[in-house]
Amino acid sequence: MSLMLWFDGRLGPQDQLAAPLTTHALHYGTAVFEGIRSYATPDGAAVFRLDDHLERMRRGAEALGMEFDVARAAAATIAVLRANHHRDAYVRPLLWCGTGGLGLDVAPLTRHLMVASLPWKPHLGERPIRLTVSPMRRNPARAMPPLKLAGGYVNAILAKREATARGYDDALFVDEAGAVVECSGVNVFLVKDGAVVSVEHADALPGITRDTVLALSGGSTRAVGLDELLDADEVFVAGTSAEVLPVAEIDGRRFGPSPVADALRAEYLRVVRGGAPQHEAWLTRVPGA
Ligand code: PMP
Repeated sequence: MSLMLWFDGRLGPQDQLAAPLTTHALHYGTAVFEGIRSYATPDGAAVFRLDDHLERMRRGAEALGMEFDVARAAAATIAVLRANHHRDAYVRPLLWCGTGGLGLDVAPLTRHLMVASLPWKPHLGERPIRLTVSPMRRNPARAMPPLKLAGGYVNAILAKREATARGYDDALFVDEAGAVVECSGVNVFLVKDGAVVSVEHADALPGITRDTVLALSGGSTRAVGLDELLDADEVFVAGTSAEVLPVAEIDGRRFGPSPVADALRAEYLRVVRGGAPQHEAWLTRVPGA
């Protein structure tokens, strides 16, 4: 059966839904999206930190001058998960500038919202990953806010392509001054003498998994130089799709074992799967899924 999508208020099979080739977002990346996880819990499907994801999406929409109805997108998320009978799934809402011209003024364009749910595949796998410092720079925040604006992801995709072509799992962005920024789709943490530190950088996406890990670990946030990262006892990454994953290597510098990262990964997976009643507020239950 074809995957069901929610598109501008209606559910339909994905192979029967389409957007015009003159869609502005297709030409310029004028769209904002989210990457959200739903998990199977003992009480059915639950979406993890749905409100926080949709609030970040609203900020991205605002940057592009688009209205975004958070409650409508939340209802669409629930509807599409139920329609697809998905529990462990990846949810992808996308709000984009449609037709009405190919000029650079987005005000006159039509606006569209779709929500897809896809069967879950871990994007970086489930084993410690190998990183390489990217020869590319992250989009600076002054050029483009670090939100989930579709066009901005060309930067991440080019860096990831370059890193994987050299046999690594992902690219590590470092700025002109040698400060660590983030990877192509995850935030970076280090562990030194038992203390968990989350890399803080103005050009990095304010990650929701990062925020979750900080709450679970009681860690701190601050700017971190590449030298300090390479000198850490453990390095790990966090993101909705990657979850929490230890780093095994950065350009030949090997890390491991990673007891703190392993424990945080286990705790994160327990929380998202509904095993921590004190964090129930982070879960949006999907009735009937
Ligand atoms: N950085 C970038 C560039 C990302 O695309 C993501 C994934 N959304 C993250 C970090 C991690 O953010 P989150 O934990 O909110 O998924």
